[in-house]
Amino acid sequence: MSVRFPWVVFLIGAWLMTACSDVQVDAGANGGANAGSEPAAIERPRYALAIHGGSGVIERGSLDPETEAAYLRTLEEALAAGERVLEQEGTALDAVVAAIVVMEDSDLFNAGRGAVLTHEGTVELDASLMRGEDLDAGAVAGVGRVRNPILAARAVMEHSPHVLLAGTGADTFAAEQGLELEDNTWFRTERRRQQLERAIEQDQVRLDHDDDLGTVGAVALDVHGNLAAGTSTGGMTNKRWGRVGDSPIIGAGTYASNASCAVSATGHGEYFIRRTVAREVCALMEYAGLDVASAARQVVHDQLGPMGGSGGLIAVDHRGNVVLEMNTPGMYRASVRSGEDPIVAIFAR
Ligand code: ASP
Repeated sequence: MSVRFPWVVFLIGAWLMTACSDVQVDAGANGGANAGSEPAAIERPRYALAIHGGSGVIERGSLDPETEAAYLRTLEEALAAGERVLEQEGTALDAVVAAIVVMEDSDLFNAGRGAVLTHEGTVELDASLMRGEDLDAGAVAGVGRVRNPILAARAVMEHSPHVLLAGTGADTFAAEQGLELEDNTWFRTERRRQQLERAIEQDQVRLDHDDDLGTVGAVALDVHGNLAAGTSTGGMTNKRWGRVGDSPIIGAGTYASNASCAVSATGHGEYFIRRTVAREVCALMEYAGLDVASAARQVVHDQLGPMGGSGGLIAVDHRGNVVLEMNTPGMYRASVRSGEDPIVAIFAR
């Protein structure tokens, strides 16, 4: 009895630790599962892709069935768009962009059209993209005209000597690159107008998560063994003074390195910047030798949680292990690995 009790405590503890995460790991990454027998051959999936549509106060029963179905459908579409690229041996970068464009184009998410509104009732969008192969990266912050900010982030990476462009200059650059522009009013929806009205009444700068929706992101491993990550958002409702969150900050909201993993985060950006969340997950793998699931858990639960930083992240490592980790009641998310059924989920449990 005295021997068995600690094991019961350990097993319950282990279950609780994983209650708020989805993990898809390769055959060799689950340690003890094959203990005592021949180690299983570690087969890396040909490709892996994970996406998120924001994390937050999304509890079972809080969404009406039609809304829930619409989210699940759009997540499936975004995942399928990214997977098509990977299946055809396209790059992780192309897959990440393809998935994010679908979510930016949907007015369900806090990105592109349908993003949250600033205090002045306008839309200011942030996005970033990073390639794990050569650590190349591009980002835009506070743009209000370019239809797909993730395409602008890509253009910054590929066609400018810079990493981050902001404000009207970034929109001008996007126009010069031939990207589609819209009037700022095109991005604004009635639902967001009402959300802003409530936030102003309550004198709050609100995370979209408090209102059930969120930022979007994607991470991928391609058949060539390369990783990429991207994130796109409208930031926080009722934000002022050109506030910029973590999403366009390389190392905070987005990071990718073939040496470790690709990460896209969603949550209260101020905390994610201070914790350099995306880079921290990679650094724990690179310097402390943690696997991607342990690194993500440590950052989300042990570092962000105690500070009050609510949110989550998705990550894929160079062996195709996929992690979707959050310290909130829910996160819109989906993932797929070659040869496996896709996972599409909203609630933490
Ligand atoms: N991280 C984003 C920001 O703080 C918000 C979000 O993830 O919904 O701007």
